[in-house]
Amino acid sequence: MYLHGTSRINDKGHLEIGGCDATDLAAQFGTPLYIMDEALVRQRAREYVEAFKASGLPFQVAYASKAFSVMAMCAIAEQEGLSLDVVSDGELHTALQAGFPVERIHFHGNNKTPDEINMALETGIGCFVVDNFLELELLNALAGDKGKKVNILLRITPGVEAHTHDYISTGQQDSKFGFDLGNGAAREAIGKALTLSNLILLGVHSHIGSQIFEVEGFRMAVDKVAQFAVSIREELDLTFKVVNLGGGFGIRYVEGETPLPIHQYVQAITDAVKSNFSDANYPLPEIWVEPGRSMVGDAGTTLYTIGTSKNIPGVRKYIAVDGGMTDNPRPALYQSQYEAILANRGNAPLEETVSVAGKCCESGDMLIWDLELPQSESGDLLAVFCTGAYNYAMASNYNRIRRPAVVFVKDGEADLVVKRESLDNIVCNDVIPARLHKSPLAK
Ligand SMILES: *Cc1c(COP(=O)(O)O)cnc(C)c1O
Repeated sequence: MYLHGTSRINDKGHLEIGGCDATDLAAQFGTPLYIMDEALVRQRAREYVEAFKASGLPFQVAYASKAFSVMAMCAIAEQEGLSLDVVSDGELHTALQAGFPVERIHFHGNNKTPDEINMALETGIGCFVVDNFLELELLNALAGDKGKKVNILLRITPGVEAHTHDYISTGQQDSKFGFDLGNGAAREAIGKALTLSNLILLGVHSHIGSQIFEVEGFRMAVDKVAQFAVSIREELDLTFKVVNLGGGFGIRYVEGETPLPIHQYVQAITDAVKSNFSDANYPLPEIWVEPGRSMVGDAGTTLYTIGTSKNIPGVRKYIAVDGGMTDNPRPALYQSQYEAILANRGNAPLEETVSVAGKCCESGDMLIWDLELPQSESGDLLAVFCTGAYNYAMASNYNRIRRPAVVFVKDGEADLVVKRESLDNIVCNDVIPARLHKSPLAK
């Protein structure tokens, strides 16, 4: 059994996280319940910051809030000195409501609407990461309307694609994001940005993938960005002040996955920046990174109550929990794998192989296939590990299932950071038009 962060099995044989007994958390807050190990989140943030400090380069570590965007998490990011990436007005609003410093907010996205851009301009965020030509024109015009000048990075597609262990380096990358480096779009975008008087071009951004377990892809990206920077300097006498290398640092979900320690990713990036840029006699740029999953992923545990089971002799035993694809769509979307234990009998011997189903009307609503567990019964608690990233963030109300509560646990204290949705929350945006009130079906 692999336990993350402060998780352990206590002397009652119960899972304990942040000094809180999981059975107590279930009794107090109900299930399903997202539990975040606050100390582990803070530890991850500090690993990034410390590694950059050790490099001596100027930097910003921007938490990619899409992984888990709630106000309490923004507050922690702020306390740990991080910057913040947002990709919608909703994420921006979350950060602003949490009092996150606007100058450390960066706005991403391949299709920002005029309303979103206006909102971000009015609040005065630190930087827009511009994705395409339409956005360049639009942002310049809207900034002009407000008499503002705004910092931008251009998102470029460097032609390096990293999938965990495979790297594909192509001239022409098939991606919906950014300006392509290989086909000249990135060069053209720089030229265009320089003609737009309300935009201040700080540099470029690249994000090569997600759940990356090696440093080679980042080195390749730095190499391509540095070559590009040098060619732009020669041609246009423009020096990039900022190079943003995105996120994608991997985490361990299941046995056999072996991500590197955070400082190794950071060191590979900062070493590559130092050597590539110094070799070209180029002033060392400020380095930004954007970890999402690796900041919060392994700090999250989802606690469920086991309900029914169905045994098909010789085929499979299903056990069903009180959540599923509504609180964790990743197995259904990506065939993602997870590890889990019985939280109320953490030391019981593993006796059977079961598959964990959710409660939605959907055969694809499965959380884990072929999990080794003790004999489980209705009422036992199942803890699924590593659910801190892209779980609450991707949760839905399919089947009108209410989204679970989220608690932060630390030093024996548990604090609610997102309330469980109520039945009234489920219908609060529904409207019955007056003409339907006449229907005998509605009162
Ligand atoms: C999703 C994303 C990230 C974060 O990726 P993780 O794999 O969660 O670290 C960072 N930057 C950009 C541009 C992204 O789209």
